[in-house]
Amino acid sequence: MSPTPLLHPKRLKPASSSTEGSRYQVYMETFGCQMNEYDTELVRSIMKARGFQFTPVDEEADVILFNTCAIRENAHNRLYGHLARYKARKKERGLVIGVLGCMAQNLKQELLETRSWIDVLVGPDAYRRLPDLLSDALEHQRQGLAVDLSEYETYAQIVPDRAGGVNGWIAVMRGCDNFCSFCVVPYTRGRERSRDPEGILEEAQRLASQGVRQITLLGQNVNSYRSGGWDFARLLVAVADVPGIQRVRFTSPHPKDFPPALLEAVAQHHIICNQIHLPLQSGNDRMLERMGRGYTCREYLKLVEAIRGKGPIVLTTDLICGFCGETDEEFQDTYNIVKEMKYQAAFVFKYSERKHTIAARKYPDDIPEQVKGYRTNQLIELQKEISLQHNQDLIGTEVDVMIEGDAKKSNQQWMGHTEHNVTVVWPKEGSSYLPGDLVSISIQDATPSTLYGLAHS
Ligand code: SAM
Ligand code: SF4
Repeated sequence: MSPTPLLHPKRLKPASSSTEGSRYQVYMETFGCQMNEYDTELVRSIMKARGFQFTPVDEEADVILFNTCAIRENAHNRLYGHLARYKARKKERGLVIGVLGCMAQNLKQELLETRSWIDVLVGPDAYRRLPDLLSDALEHQRQGLAVDLSEYETYAQIVPDRAGGVNGWIAVMRGCDNFCSFCVVPYTRGRERSRDPEGILEEAQRLASQGVRQITLLGQNVNSYRSGGWDFARLLVAVADVPGIQRVRFTSPHPKDFPPALLEAVAQHHIICNQIHLPLQSGNDRMLERMGRGYTCREYLKLVEAIRGKGPIVLTTDLICGFCGETDEEFQDTYNIVKEMKYQAAFVFKYSERKHTIAARKYPDDIPEQVKGYRTNQLIELQKEISLQHNQDLIGTEVDVMIEGDAKKSNQQWMGHTEHNVTVVWPKEGSSYLPGDLVSISIQDATPSTLYGLAHS
């Protein structure tokens, strides 16, 4: 760690020999996926146990933390924009700034060389060290770096500090061993580790007792969950059996090793939602091979056939446009499969080269930005039409919706999701419902992303 003196022109509070954080207010922002949101809950818990307090107002904070994502370029750019803003504020009045998570892990050298005013860098396996590093930075103006990856850390005994609400997340495993050639996750989150089922079930029971009604189990490839004699299907069913839990979802299963028992669990258990996120990435075999995905289009389609043969299970997916060497024809293959698959929703990403990955070392990132953008837009537009069609088909029908809270645009409307994870909005109109209630909504109107309806009185 460089001994570079830090810019702390004016400490807000007098230094003391205490290493506890009770005098300090922390403001934290999270970028990226649900796994990062979950990690933020872990970090809050670790910090609060050491007396740090959290504030939603950045101006009140002594410590600014960013929990970051390194999956795509735009996450980097967003973080750099935010860092620049706080650098100025740090000069004015002294602030401790910390970067946590995947970017800290992946960019430690670059961040330290180009942004040496960052006080603390902590990777996804080192959150337990954060309070000490922050205390050191706050009281002794020392920079702190903790980016070692661990083969064992699962934060099993940490009770996440949740913001409340009826939705809860549980990470059942950490890391990934798949090394898809485009993906930085194995380098930033390390080797795959599963948590023990007892801890996961305790967490599910605790969530239920706090009023959570819907749990999403998280892992980079949940199919590889193993602990003692437990596999993921068994774990999923056990979580779905926890009293009080009304819906269970999971993300993501990998198409290369989707177990029949998992499909049975989804098809049979009424608490497990009939929705599977099945990332395709590309509809062309040469691209899939380059991506190191471990399946062909034929194998993927066979799996989809098996899933659809089990009943009304909807599929969502992830797609990457403009991967190294992707020709127009190869992109067209993806376009055609998306048309054929009729996903309920698709997350479409422009390929962005990530340092250290196999693709970055092996293949030139040779598709012009404009072409990547054009292909991405084409797929987004196609998927919008498909999603709209799915949603319009529901007009005039009744759907069961779990109330999650006020709609974004109005507190006179409720917002919730169907079992298939489609957002539904409807007027409250004096109803005595509460978040967590399952209600039947009659659908009146639809956009590609939202259903609008009326509750039965
Ligand atoms: N573990 C999940 C799987 O294999 O399906 C994916 C997790 S990753 C956090 C989410 C999505 O980000 C991937 O499915 C992929 O579509 C996208 N992604 C990952 N690396 C990317 C890259 N370098 N450029 C563009 N999209 C990327
Ligand atoms: Fe990345 Fe592939 Fe692992 Fe998903 S399965 S996190 S895409 S390496």
